[in-house]
Amino acid sequence: MTKEGKLIIFSAPSGAGKTTIVHHLLGKIPDLEFSISATTRPARGDEQHGKDYYFISKEEFLHRIAKKQFVEFEEVYSGTFYGTLRTEIERIWEQGKTVIFDIDVEGGMHLKRKYDGQALAIFVQPPSLEVLIERLTGRGTDSEEKLKERFIKAEKELNYAPQFDIILKNYDLQTACKEAEDLVTNFLG
Ligand code: ADP
Ligand code: 5GP
Repeated sequence: MTKEGKLIIFSAPSGAGKTTIVHHLLGKIPDLEFSISATTRPARGDEQHGKDYYFISKEEFLHRIAKKQFVEFEEVYSGTFYGTLRTEIERIWEQGKTVIFDIDVEGGMHLKRKYDGQALAIFVQPPSLEVLIERLTGRGTDSEEKLKERFIKAEKELNYAPQFDIILKNYDLQTACKEAEDLVTNFLG
């Protein structure tokens, strides 16, 4: 059996900056390894299979649900599934590393409940919903329809912040990255 390790969960509404912060941490702290989620959405930009996500068909995703291969999964947007494979966490713990997640708010709370005591759950907070919308639009990766779906979900998700261990304000990116580094370093001990 794999020896269990630690987990660091970054959750936030889409556009808050969690991917940017998680990438920064991965470049700075060698003990961390990214949990590559499975998703049914197509790759965007220069995303790569097996690096950013495991891009799989809906059929395969449903098959893996039936086989109970996910620690958690969500239909994050209608018709689009995202999930964490059990084998992914084991793969990282087997290397003696800490798992770092970039995951939606519900998924983050789910993992926090499941691994309470060994997980640090961080909520990335944007300055306001207006700024979040600006960032998401500015990223230029989603169609108008997809953007609207993300804004509606984001408004609800912002209310979940107090349920996380820590709220990390992402106003100025450099400050947020430094704070994230300090939080993670302290947690790793
Ligand atoms: P998420 O992973 O939470 O959806 P991203 O990390 O993709 O968010 O960030 C969304 C967009 O906002 C990206 O274009 C990113 O470069 C930008 N961004 C992130 N943090 C900041 C910040 N503090 N100030 C301005 N822009 C930011
Ligand atoms: P995106 O399409 O922008 O990459 O991700 C959309 C949302 O799905 C983000 O909030 C992202 O964190 C979340 N997400 C990514 N992987 C997972 C996962 O494995 N499980 C859950 N529940 N959400 C995920």
